[in-house]
Parts: sequence; C-alpha cells; structure tokens
Amino acid sequence: MAWYRESGMKLREEFSHLDAETIYRDILPQGQVEDHGLCICGDILRGKARPSQCKAFGNLCTPKNPIGACMVSSEGACHAYFSYQT
Ligand code: SF4
Repeated sequence: MAWYRESGMKLREEFSHLDAETIYRDILPQGQVEDHGLCICGDILRGKARPSQCKAFGNLCTPKNPIGACMVSSEGACHAYFSYQT
C-alpha cells in the first residue's frame, strides 16, 4: 500500500531536508506493497481478533522476524502480546 503517497500528512517545504520520503525516494518501493496474506493486523487493530488468533503469531511472525506491522514496534499489539503473554 502506498500509504505515504496517499497520506494527507506532509512536511512543509522548509523541512524537506528531513523528509524520509524525499531523502529515500530512490529506494522506497514503488506502487503497492501488499500485506502478508496471513496477517490480520487490521482485525486486531479494530478489536475483532486477538493476536493469538493469527496463524502466523509466534511461529512465522515474531519480534525478531515480524511479518506484520503489529509485531514490528514494541508498542504493537502483537509484539506486546508476544512479550507479555503468560
Ligand atoms: S503482525 Fe504478525 S502476528 Fe500480528 S497479525 Fe500480523 S502476521 Fe499475525
């Protein structure tokens, strides 16, 4: 998904030297980047599913090898669930 191009959030021209979209324009993926087919981050973020209901949770997808956005950041639902599950 080309979210960075479709976002309404932009840095002002005076800060363009700090804009990652500008700096890394040549290496950012072009076109759409699809989510992994097993990832259910959207449902988790909407409260429709728990991380443990994802088929990739804890096996294909871990904090060291995240395949979805929810596992990337330590603040992500899947990452937190993985780190603090008992
Ligand atoms: S981030 Fe990983 S564990 Fe969480 S829904 Fe996506 S694939 Fe599943």
